[in-house]
Amino acid sequence: MLERVKDGGPLSIAIVGAGIVGCATALALAIEGHKVTVFDPDAPGAGTSSGNAGGIVTGSVTPTSTPDVLRALPSYIFDSKSPAVLRPRHALRVLPWLARFIRAGMPAEVDRIAAALYPIVSQALIAHQTLAAHCGAQTMITQEGWLKIYGSQQEFDATALDRRLMDRFGVNYTVLDRKAVTDLEPNLDPALCQIGIYQPKSGFVRNPKALAAAYFEGAAKLGATHLHQQVKGVTRRSEGGIIVHAQSGAQTFDRLIVAAGAWSANLVRQLGDKVSLDTERGYHIAFGSDTNQLMRGPVVVPALSLVLSPMHDGIRLVSGDELAGLNASPNYSRIRALMPAARRALPALSDIKPATEWMGFRPSTPDSLPVIGPSTKGNDVIYAFGHGHLGLTLAAITAQMVAACVAGRPSDIAPVPYLVSRF
Ligand SMILES: Cc1cc2nc3c(=O)[nH]c(=O)nc-3n(C[C@H](O)[C@H](O)[C@H](O)COP(=O)(O)OP(=O)(O)OC[C@H]3O[C@@H](n4cnc5c(N)ncnc54)[C@H](O)[C@@H]3O)c2cc1C
Repeated sequence: MLERVKDGGPLSIAIVGAGIVGCATALALAIEGHKVTVFDPDAPGAGTSSGNAGGIVTGSVTPTSTPDVLRALPSYIFDSKSPAVLRPRHALRVLPWLARFIRAGMPAEVDRIAAALYPIVSQALIAHQTLAAHCGAQTMITQEGWLKIYGSQQEFDATALDRRLMDRFGVNYTVLDRKAVTDLEPNLDPALCQIGIYQPKSGFVRNPKALAAAYFEGAAKLGATHLHQQVKGVTRRSEGGIIVHAQSGAQTFDRLIVAAGAWSANLVRQLGDKVSLDTERGYHIAFGSDTNQLMRGPVVVPALSLVLSPMHDGIRLVSGDELAGLNASPNYSRIRALMPAARRALPALSDIKPATEWMGFRPSTPDSLPVIGPSTKGNDVIYAFGHGHLGLTLAAITAQMVAACVAGRPSDIAPVPYLVSRF
């Protein structure tokens, strides 16, 4: 089977995970003529990839861990009202991840990580637009931009690091005054809109689950299949090829792509690699589809620790960063506690009852960089997980990089910062 690699012929490729990353990768590989099989008990994009804020944030060069975040860490542990929280039961388990997270927040590391984020986030929208054109999904991606609002000069000044990093890399953004912010979003409370930062080159996806499904359907038209099965284990054959053990039995493939989001670490270990991966769980409350006309695009309110986003199922109040692992049940109390703040920011929500509540599992590395590229044990396994807060943003550029790796082509983006060998 591996001879075909030398000939450059099509390969049989298994992808574990049908989130936005797995689906985008399935399409990119199917376009190159490979025979793709996606394993996931769930429908394409049904999990974490369905409930996000919809931002393709091309200027997101600030890592999650920064000196400011590190200063606030004690409140995440001790303040029961903080939107970021570490659940005591998960504390011991998350310690090694947390130690790396703290290291990643040191100034020199922040600069290094930002330099590694820039090449991938800056190419993210064009990569999605290119991929979407292959499956007729172009209109699912729009360019509303990414808006952050500040209620005072003091709030604005507290986020100076964001602007320092954006300036360093030439990210296109504009500082808006109160009139310009309320011209863009007239329904917001003007008191919270004293200053705005607007990144016009960012994209927006109102229905991220539908985009994942469109990517998978595009791949299916080129012969990809979806097996609704959980992968129990993976093994390398000494004579070449990867065996995927699923409910229906074992199947051998030429290549394996691990795109199992927050669940990827177990497979990585089975393949002989090490990784530091945990989940930053996040929440949303959706206000019902008749509310989505209240805003034109996503708006971040840093001082209130929330994002408001006009999604297909209505305005979503998005927030939360909960270190509680993969198995603890959701705790909606913190996102519910943000309802008054959301209604203050967008007063038209005041009389509207929330329609749905949701929790998802961000697949997070401590250094805010995804894991993209081959296993340390060989190119027959390629990793594509760990996208944390930016999985929607980075799905299509990841798919491009994985396809280049499978083809043995040099990628336009230097691969080193994303390799699993950094762990
Ligand atoms: C509240 C919130 C807001 C967010 N907002 C944004 C945003 O605005 N912009 C942005 O870019 N990102 C955002 N994100 C992050 C983004 O949603 C995630 O990074 C992204 O969805 C991860 O995609 P994924 O495909 O890696 O993982 P997932 O969507 O979790 O998919 C992984 C899939 O793998 C499957 N799987 C796992 N194990 C196995 C197995 N053993 N066998 C078979 N299948 C398996 C799972 O069933 C799942 O379907 C947000 C996240 C949250 C929680």
